Amino acid sequence: MKLSKLYEDAPGKKVLMSGNEAFARGIFEAGVRFSANYPGTPLSEVGDRLKYLSDTSQNFTFDYALNEKVALESCIGASWAGVRSVVMFKHLGLNVAADPLHTFPYSGVNGGMLILCGGDPGILSSTNAQDNRLYSLHTKIPIIEPATVQECKDFIKEGLRISELFQIPIYLHVTTRLCHSNGIVELGEIKTPKKKGQFKKNPDRYVNTLGRALKNQKAYFKKISNIAQNPKVFNLFNNVKSAYSSKQENNKDIDINDANIGIMTSGICFGYVIQACHKLDINPPILKLGLIFPVNRSEICNFANEFNLDKILVVEELEPFIETFSKRVFCNFCDVKRELEIHGKEFLPNTGELSTDLVMKFFSHFFKIKNEYLLEELEMKENALQEIIPGLPIRQPTFCPGCQYRTVFYALKNTTEKLKKKHGTEFIYSGDIGCYTLAEAYPYELLDWVVCMGAGIGIANGMAQILEENQKLIAYIGDSTFFHTGIQPLLNAIKNNIDLTILIFNNYWTAMTGHQEIIATPNELIKRYGKATDIHTNSLNLTAFLKNLGIKNLTITDAYNIEKLERIFEREMQKEGLKVILINEECALEKQRRFKKQKKEKAQRKKTETYYTISESCVKCNDCIDQFGCPAINAKIKQKSSDNEEQDFEDLEYYIDETMCIPDICNGACRQVCKNQMILKTMINPHLEDCNLENRD
Ligand code: SF4
Ligand code: SF4
Repeated sequence: MKLSKLYEDAPGKKVLMSGNEAFARGIFEAGVRFSANYPGTPLSEVGDRLKYLSDTSQNFTFDYALNEKVALESCIGASWAGVRSVVMFKHLGLNVAADPLHTFPYSGVNGGMLILCGGDPGILSSTNAQDNRLYSLHTKIPIIEPATVQECKDFIKEGLRISELFQIPIYLHVTTRLCHSNGIVELGEIKTPKKKGQFKKNPDRYVNTLGRALKNQKAYFKKISNIAQNPKVFNLFNNVKSAYSSKQENNKDIDINDANIGIMTSGICFGYVIQACHKLDINPPILKLGLIFPVNRSEICNFANEFNLDKILVVEELEPFIETFSKRVFCNFCDVKRELEIHGKEFLPNTGELSTDLVMKFFSHFFKIKNEYLLEELEMKENALQEIIPGLPIRQPTFCPGCQYRTVFYALKNTTEKLKKKHGTEFIYSGDIGCYTLAEAYPYELLDWVVCMGAGIGIANGMAQILEENQKLIAYIGDSTFFHTGIQPLLNAIKNNIDLTILIFNNYWTAMTGHQEIIATPNELIKRYGKATDIHTNSLNLTAFLKNLGIKNLTITDAYNIEKLERIFEREMQKEGLKVILINEECALEKQRRFKKQKKEKAQRKKTETYYTISESCVKCNDCIDQFGCPAINAKIKQKSSDNEEQDFEDLEYYIDETMCIPDICNGACRQVCKNQMILKTMINPHLEDCNLENRD
């Protein structure tokens, strides 16, 4: 949706928006004064929308922080000074922020504070699927989880209210599917934030040392226990639902089925449960949990008692979190229902995302299903997929057309193969988080592991010190990851002068998550929607930064000259000790976007257009596809002159798809790859009639 529409002052208006837009809207309506994040799927878009708000409003400040720990700490600071704050990042970011996360709740909050964290159970865009709800076992921070797009907005507001009421932070748990779902949201009133905050000194509360920490811990645990026992808080977030009505008062419609079965669920799984109930034509009582930690024991017991349940089926993704605490509650604290059966993970997987189909199969074990044929269809569908999927062609992920990484990895592959032949050296490639993990894919296959942000240089630190002579390490890191958690491992490598080559890709953006600005983005390139922002950023020059670290072998280069890159790689990789190669080249995609915009503005003045084409004399060696792999280069079968004509390899025609090609950015990088000089540069003056060729080589 249009960014300005998201922040419209129109209470009661119903608007279609995504879960992430609803979070941003909730932050706006709740009068949040300060927000910070480090971008990461599935929540990157929330920050991008808040950046607009920050640029256009005097009452709100948003910061793309260097990493999640800094983002969380910034929000703690804002809250302690008395204003509302929301920090957001992906599930893995919570590990980075885990240090302050475990301590600051002892001191509590002043302005309401929310930690909005997006999980990725299907590992669609992450390196693991950790279930962050388990953090509550040691942090004790209450967890709320919306189940609909409307709740994405409403839970931000309610969460902040509860945070202020009990003076504790609240964790808002959400997963990819809901962030990216669309739904109708009713807009609410907009609360204007306090413009300035004030910090009131209180060492007993904020300086967690010696006896104070223990005292504060006890006080904090007491607050959590108060929340757990508060029926109003329970009813604010949790409610009993029927599959056929979203309104609680219609619960009289709920079937008290023969087997006396109830359902417990939360988040996006609530949607799967409702769909499964509709398809199977069952209507059990559903306890939809919005507050999933701490647990209100008596309210949970009431659910079982009210519907006289014998069994509860728990539907949740990943770990048996709700299932475990439910079992504990019913076995230990619920007098009437000690014999209650609770089922969940013995039927549902604890890896990957759930689906309506999986939930239907789970329910079918316990309910008498009227439309059995649906389950048979499900079985048939599964069998058909098992047969079809192995035969489907796999679409390899790859860099964008004209991407600056392609020439680097092409040159790196050539060089390492050459050095292997010459010296018998085996190269090992230590990856990190960023677009360059695509080096793993065909045709480069130059990646041996990827673990987490900053681990590329980190892991190499230890391995480089104990490797046999015939193995050499190369580590990659992008600029955003470098500033996130890459500086410390680099300093460690400098300290020990380990035998390691590090490639630092300076592309000026956090490109993989949608081109968010970073500290190394030149100020003149930063996108601004307005001038209202309170943050006046200073850009840091990565080249100057590295030069000041005293690295003995530091080489600075650009990315599109393959011959130059090969020369540098060959020279540096034969040296002993630490070698750092900084590749300064802006992300091609972002540069192209800007270029296109500028071109539109200056269209009248532009004299010529550059195109790259493949000559008809192409010898079809396939090097441009097989070794370079720019997706703009393709081969197709020539049109046959007659149906009887047989087709063979000779009928292949290589071409460059001009809708994908970005010649002004990559300068025709592929020409360096075609040893037969079959990739031609053509300059056309579009203003001349008939588009006469002006220059062609
Ligand atoms: S364009 Fe060049 S590299 Fe590509 S197939 Fe033709 S001759 Fe080979
Ligand atoms: S000029 Fe060549 S390398 Fe550049 S985008 Fe076009 S096809 Fe790809």
